[in-house]
Amino acid sequence: MIRDLHEKLLNGETSATKLAEQSFAVIDEKDSELHAFLTVTKELALEQAKVVDEKIKKGEKIDMLAGLPCALKDNICVTGTRTTAASKILAEYIAPYDATVTARVKENDVVIIGKTNLDEFACGGSTENSAFGPSKNPVDTSRVPGGSSGGSVVAVASDEVVWALGTDTGGSVRQPSSFCGTVGLKPTYGRVSRYGVIAMGSSLDQVGPITKTVEDAAIVLSRISGRDELDATSAKSSEKPYEDYCVGDIAGAKIGIPSEYLGEGLDDGVAEVFMKAVEKYKELGAEIVDVHLPHTEYALATYYIIMPSELSSNLARFDGIRYGGMKELDPQTVLEQYLETRGKGFGPEIKRRVMLGTYALSAGYYDAYYKKAQKVRALIKKDFTDVFEKVDYIFTPTTPEPAFKFGAKTDDPLKMYLSDIYTVTANLAGVPAISVPIGSVNVDGVDLPVGGQLMGKWFDEEGILNAGHTFEINK
Ligand code: GLN
Repeated sequence: MIRDLHEKLLNGETSATKLAEQSFAVIDEKDSELHAFLTVTKELALEQAKVVDEKIKKGEKIDMLAGLPCALKDNICVTGTRTTAASKILAEYIAPYDATVTARVKENDVVIIGKTNLDEFACGGSTENSAFGPSKNPVDTSRVPGGSSGGSVVAVASDEVVWALGTDTGGSVRQPSSFCGTVGLKPTYGRVSRYGVIAMGSSLDQVGPITKTVEDAAIVLSRISGRDELDATSAKSSEKPYEDYCVGDIAGAKIGIPSEYLGEGLDDGVAEVFMKAVEKYKELGAEIVDVHLPHTEYALATYYIIMPSELSSNLARFDGIRYGGMKELDPQTVLEQYLETRGKGFGPEIKRRVMLGTYALSAGYYDAYYKKAQKVRALIKKDFTDVFEKVDYIFTPTTPEPAFKFGAKTDDPLKMYLSDIYTVTANLAGVPAISVPIGSVNVDGVDLPVGGQLMGKWFDEEGILNAGHTFEINK
């Protein structure tokens, strides 16, 4: 898709300005219902489009992403643009600098159409925790799009933009991709700079592409990845662009299927679609191997100690002073400023997690919770090291069930957390993982998308992208 549009730009069939205007037309038509966007950056987009059209006119070389409309999740800073993390506490916050990923895509002359909706501070799996109202699943608007990068996924799935960036701390790029039928990649921890991305769980967060095809995800990853002096955890990129590894052949590759991901709680329809995909991989010449990740059962509990601990510490900076206050408040003392801003600015799920996190980190409980969780995390990581001695990739369903209805899990946080049961392990271990559409299940007469997740060895984005691409082109 990106390649085709790039060709069309080069041969004059379309222009960057036309593509941007098309995006705005689709947004005008659909977004009052779908609510993918929190801010539409029309002026910025048209300015960027003009630059590209000039370059094409002059015969200058342009990047493959140049001139193509994209969207960024609203926890990624863009200079001069409102960046809210879908929280009331940042409703008026204008970012004074670009995140590294923003700067990198700007260098490639992309056209940023706007900032997309999310669960507040990326905490959630449905966008129902957004302070500005949820986004809707374009496949069935009575259902959630998933989250937390729901807005970015909806924008891509409904053709408002060609590609988008999301962030993934426990599944937030992959789970909504699975719910809406897009491709979503969580890179290896360290593959993409986190500088300028509002932190959730700093040892888990990664920015990832959301696209219509696997090759497109590779193209975007090539542009956003690589070492950044501003993020000490960032690593070098691969030697060749990732798209060059999408060769469409996986004969001889070993794919592990972990039984821990196929047990209780897995929807029958999803299981059936998944088993068909496994058969497909066999037909394509891959060797299917049964594997075990024995500590999987502790993953969710571990995640829900480590993530809130890091979140509570990261969100301590929102005190009503450093990032601006909330207009409607009138505190008289500094203490009142803190209490009112945090009391009125954070939504209920954020408060829950900040309390859980501060509790787990507090003196006397630190060893019992945080330290213990770190030890279990090491065991989960070791499961992956062991399995990757036997196989090249691990293949699982992305989520236990397809997109659920609005309100289905809002009363019970645990039910909502279970939606991440297959995705949090990749964040805890730090391995790359991609969700690829593998089919659909018919629920009440609607075909709901199902995603399959490929996890790979640390820094083997090449491998999982090729495995996903090979499936996709042979569907
Ligand atoms: N849904 C998960 C959570 O609520 C994952 C969030 C994320 O990856 N940002 O924590």
